[in-house]
Amino acid sequence: MNDTPPKAPPLYPKSHLLAASGIAALLSLALLVFPSSDVEAKKTNLALELDTPADQLKQEQDAQNQNKATDETTVSPFAQIDNGADEPEDTAKTEPQALPAAAEAVVAAKNPGHKEIVVSKGDTLSTLFEKVGLPPAAVHEVIASDKQAKQFSQLKNGQVLQFELTPDGNLKQLHSKINDLESISLSRTDKGYTFTRDVSKPNVRTAYVHGVINNSLSQSAQRAGLNHSMTMDMANIFGYDVDFAQDIRKGDEFDVIYEQKVVNGKTVGTGNILSARFTNRGKTYTAVRYTNKQGNTNYYTADGNSMRKAFIRTPVEYARISSMFSMGRKHPILNKIRAHKGIDYAAPRGTPIKATGDGKVILAGRRGGYGNTVIIQHGETYRTLYGHMQGFAKGIQNGSSVKQGQVIGYIGTTGLSTGPHVHYEFQVNGVHVDPLGQKLPMADPIAKSEKQRFMQESQPLMARMDQEKATMLASSKR
Ligand SMILES: [Zn+2]
Repeated sequence: MNDTPPKAPPLYPKSHLLAASGIAALLSLALLVFPSSDVEAKKTNLALELDTPADQLKQEQDAQNQNKATDETTVSPFAQIDNGADEPEDTAKTEPQALPAAAEAVVAAKNPGHKEIVVSKGDTLSTLFEKVGLPPAAVHEVIASDKQAKQFSQLKNGQVLQFELTPDGNLKQLHSKINDLESISLSRTDKGYTFTRDVSKPNVRTAYVHGVINNSLSQSAQRAGLNHSMTMDMANIFGYDVDFAQDIRKGDEFDVIYEQKVVNGKTVGTGNILSARFTNRGKTYTAVRYTNKQGNTNYYTADGNSMRKAFIRTPVEYARISSMFSMGRKHPILNKIRAHKGIDYAAPRGTPIKATGDGKVILAGRRGGYGNTVIIQHGETYRTLYGHMQGFAKGIQNGSSVKQGQVIGYIGTTGLSTGPHVHYEFQVNGVHVDPLGQKLPMADPIAKSEKQRFMQESQPLMARMDQEKATMLASSKR
């Protein structure tokens, strides 16, 4: 740690007051302007093009207002930023296809060749073609025109098909929006129909949430506006330090800055967690996402240590410890005092067993009382052993390379064993140690050559979390 970090405010503010002061506040202000990616999404919607310019202008304004409204809620963490529940309302406002019947009629009047049909139960492409007055042969012609044109026959309830007809009643163009980001169309050319797919690229902006745990993490996260997959991401990021199954307490809290994908002012999805903070039983952990110059992405603590450890704590999720590490206990089968140089995790037969670290399999086979066993060598120093397996995972054999978390086999009761469990051993330079007593080795920290770049990214994120939280606490006191 003898490299010189840039002049920086302390990174672990004990009080939120700090956020309101000096550099931190300035950085935050810069960041509040940061969701600058609010450039209008590329409009691929045919309906807009068919509208008169005045209508189009109005819709763009609407879309902008929508953007603005969503922006404001971004600052307020209780605004359920990403709650799927209020999406149907958004949809009604932003999707031009969802125009009420009256408006639809107007469009049709101005543009007699334009017809819109909403797919309902039982509809097929044929019934829809019939409704707009196209002959049955046209369906065949359309489907046969292009391999991809079949997509028009995969209709969903509520989907809108837009037909553009020639004055003599033939199909000129067919267009439909598949989801918020994708639309497909077929246009008549001299040689038949050409299929095109438009995919609009969402704008990415950042959002902030803060939550305090009352009952469960998932409930509090949902209340704060964090969706399920984001909650899982957060649990994974902090999973090396916090045991989310056992250690969560009332009053634990979290802050998250994450990416939101926006199209035409509507949130259509979420991206990555950029930074997060989790306070568990009074101890605060901080994580920042960083992509190094080689393009590898990992989460680091605010001062650049890896969140990821070389080893995960346990090889089986949701298992019960049936026997602890001890230097002397009565063996249940041999009935003699013997050291138990590992930990037994009991779980139902067939439960996946994971490699606790990256490494090379040096044994996958039977080994005496251990039954079906996998031994993994991790670098020079560490070795792990997994015994009594029912069987090995596909591809696991002597010499295979494995990644941390990769499934290597399944819980069984082979060898000297009284019931389904995995016997897990951890060796440091050939000496058995208690894997639960061991301070787990860290993965690599930020390289010195990237430290400055890392700090430039991490400090504004930390400052913004402080600022947003301070703002939020201040407004809740009012
Ligand atoms: Zn054992």
